[in-house]
Amino acid sequence: MSAELINGRDLAQELRNQMKDEVIALKKDGVTPHLTVVLVGDNPASRSYVKGKEKASAEVGIQSKVIELPGTVSEEELLQLINELNDNNSVHGILVQLPLPKHIQEQKVIETISPSKDVDGFHPVNIGRMMTGQDTFLPCTPFGIMTMLHSKDISIEGKHAVIIGRSNIVGKPIGQLLLNENATVTYCHSKTKNLKEFTTKADILIVAVGRPNVINEEHVKEGSVVIDVGINRLQDGSLTGDVDFDSVVEKASHITPVPRGVGPMTIAMLLHNTIKAAKGLT
Ligand code: NDP
Repeated sequence: MSAELINGRDLAQELRNQMKDEVIALKKDGVTPHLTVVLVGDNPASRSYVKGKEKASAEVGIQSKVIELPGTVSEEELLQLINELNDNNSVHGILVQLPLPKHIQEQKVIETISPSKDVDGFHPVNIGRMMTGQDTFLPCTPFGIMTMLHSKDISIEGKHAVIIGRSNIVGKPIGQLLLNENATVTYCHSKTKNLKEFTTKADILIVAVGRPNVINEEHVKEGSVVIDVGINRLQDGSLTGDVDFDSVVEKASHITPVPRGVGPMTIAMLLHNTIKAAKGLT
């Protein structure tokens, strides 16, 4: 049996088409959704992510502005810029592209962004709202994964979801969102002993590690849903996920590819959150 592909590129395109209409309606009411992205330094991966966000914003009619700051900018200057953006009524969403240079405390930056403009969903206020099941800006990657699962009517309630990875931006929040929908959740990480013991029990396996081939067919249960969040660049420049796709595809019921999987969904959910901010819904 070969697993059904959950194609994030196509689903993201569908969502962007729907969002175009929402933006047209908002513009008729005199509101143009506006996202400001702050890019510090010249990390090539960050630059490429920001380009992708700009392009997708333009496609749906969201006005986006990228503010580039040198890698030597002080923490104080960055925080001051964020405060100015917080006070600027024409800016609906603020995103500071991570990672930041070492001399800047990321958490301080995240907490300076107004929760009502935090379209990344990283502010502790929004994380708290997510944990307590309230409407809020959900972090984009986990939100994208949930949207992919829903798009295939994959049942979550009562299912055993195993998450590999416990970062604040992917692992922890995706576990919480699955729990909110009544899954039984297990978290694994680098200190987990005998990973296979957990992964082979998963009905839904989310892999967010950042290392190629962490998971192969021996790790997965027949008929499980496998979501590969990892983005790893190989020496030849190509991208690959954390899952050995060719072997796992034969065993899973559903699987996400890399590329064309979770990545495009992350950007689509950022646009969704920006439109939500422009509507003043949080
Ligand atoms: P982090 O590096 O912050 O977290 C990685 C997690 O994997 C950690 O919790 C770590 O454990 C765990 N881990 C590392 N090695 C192992 C191992 N051998 N076995 C089990 N667990 C392990 O990464 P992110 O969460 O930010 O990202 C994960 C991956 O997803 C990356 O490839 C990243 O590029 C990608 N990504 C993709 C996105 C998309 O849109 N598709 C968006 C964001 C990220 P510990 O906590 O113990 O260190």
